[in-house]
Amino acid sequence: MELVVCVDANLYASHHYNCFLFSRYRFNWKEIMYADEYQKLAMEFRTPTANESYALLNLAAEAGEVLGKVAKHIRDGGDTDVLRQEVKKELGDVMWMVAAVAADFELTLTEICTHNLAKLHSRKDREVIGGSGDNR
Ligand SMILES: [Mg+2]
Repeated sequence: MELVVCVDANLYASHHYNCFLFSRYRFNWKEIMYADEYQKLAMEFRTPTANESYALLNLAAEAGEVLGKVAKHIRDGGDTDVLRQEVKKELGDVMWMVAAVAADFELTLTEICTHNLAKLHSRKDREVIGGSGDNR
């Protein structure tokens, strides 16, 4: 699904899912466009050895680095502003890995974000936002 920039969401609502989301959630389309632009720019830094396996494995590793920063802060204390900056850096690394894995599956970040929000909205409408199960 390719992102379509919607000036008039209602015009496209009947046949384009993303536009429905724009209308429903009042997204700022420039922010959504930025996700795909980020993915494109981030992948320009991908080296030939940063293959599909690397991206998948390092996605978990970078997520672990986020947790490690927070864990050390819990253990040792410290400046929360410093922690915030460290978490920002590590989440950036996570984002790069997400962008890479998405690209390997021929997905855009916009597709992923809009699909995720649609899923959450559906769950909320059906009052199954809590609970468990991927396909509830
Ligand atoms: Mg890192």
